[in-house]
Amino acid sequence: MKALTFHGKETVRFESIPDPEIIAPTDVILKVTCCAICGSDLHVYHEHEKGLDHGTAMGHEFTGEIVDVGAQVRSLHVGDVVMSPFTTSCGNCFYCTIGLTARCVHSELFGWRQNNHGLHGGQAEFVRVPLADTSLLKIPEGVTQEEGLLLGDILSTGFFCARQAEIRAGNTYVVIGCGPVGLMAILGVREFGAEKIYAIDTLPERLAKAKQFGAIGINAANQNPVEVIREVTEGRGADAALEAVGSAATNRLAYDLIRPGGIISAVGVCTAGSLSFSPTEAYHKNITYRVGRCPARYMMGQLIPIVQKKKYDFTSIISHRMQLQDGVKGYNLFANKKDNCLKVVLSVG
Ligand code: NAD
Ligand code: ZN
Repeated sequence: MKALTFHGKETVRFESIPDPEIIAPTDVILKVTCCAICGSDLHVYHEHEKGLDHGTAMGHEFTGEIVDVGAQVRSLHVGDVVMSPFTTSCGNCFYCTIGLTARCVHSELFGWRQNNHGLHGGQAEFVRVPLADTSLLKIPEGVTQEEGLLLGDILSTGFFCARQAEIRAGNTYVVIGCGPVGLMAILGVREFGAEKIYAIDTLPERLAKAKQFGAIGINAANQNPVEVIREVTEGRGADAALEAVGSAATNRLAYDLIRPGGIISAVGVCTAGSLSFSPTEAYHKNITYRVGRCPARYMMGQLIPIVQKKKYDFTSIISHRMQLQDGVKGYNLFANKKDNCLKVVLSVG
């Protein structure tokens, strides 16, 4: 089959790799219908995260049709059209039962193979999905494949980020980073009941999208976000900062933006070696710091009704639709934010 594979820093190839096969009886094989490039793929692409085997199929955002099922798969059948969270989960362990499916003891991340172990990703014609019954969801009526694709990662992650920020009506929230995740976080804040939302980025086209989604844009290239937020909060700071970038600088900014007693909800994958604020600073501001991988499988179940209501135009963030074979160009556009690229969706076949 054909796949977009990793071959070192900023090198992705469209090439042939072996077709996946059922390994465990709880596996299924999907024929991928659409897949997307995520900000998390960029950490791998730029080698901020190191160790991925060369030749690994990239990608963890995809939908597909089941073409083969293992002997112990119960609820899924050949022909079902499904959406997938970006990690697998067993549905039975302690973490799955408390809704922290991202920390399932059997969890694996799509598109991450190290020393020949792990899973190939979904930027491919086919993908093997372990623990299929408890990882995959049939795409329900009223949810399109593209919405299903977004539910599997960035939509769930944005809403998870908002949930961790404990949204309350009347409070002031600030989203750092208006990439796909930050934009979804803005909609999450709105859905959970607040209206005073500020959004920070340096790219005018992304700030324009944030505005369309209901936030007031702050362009960090020519405005001081901390001053802007102080001015609108009687000098206090925001009730929570939603960090959706993942750099040391934006984590520091989150700390500087919140009021004493405020919350930092960080979903950006930060590869810095230490926190951007000291324990003493945390103490003197009484902050709450929430960070980590989104339990996408759990969130998907919660968010399906919101998607079905069609209250928000989630898929309007998709700026580029192309074929899988043009994925190398897709990486180049998305990584370098060329051509106002905000989200690339690749269709397969
Ligand atoms: P993206 O790269 O498209 O978006 C990042 C945005 O941040 C860009 O618009 C960029 O201009 C902006 N930015 C960068 N530095 C900034 C700064 N100093 N100030 C203001 N804005 C700045 O990525 P994305 O797809 O939106 O993903 C965002 C982050 O979320 C990534 O780190 C990704 O790995 C992470 N992520 C985490 C999870 C999770 O489970 N926690 C899931 C998905 C993605
Ligand atoms: Zn992702």
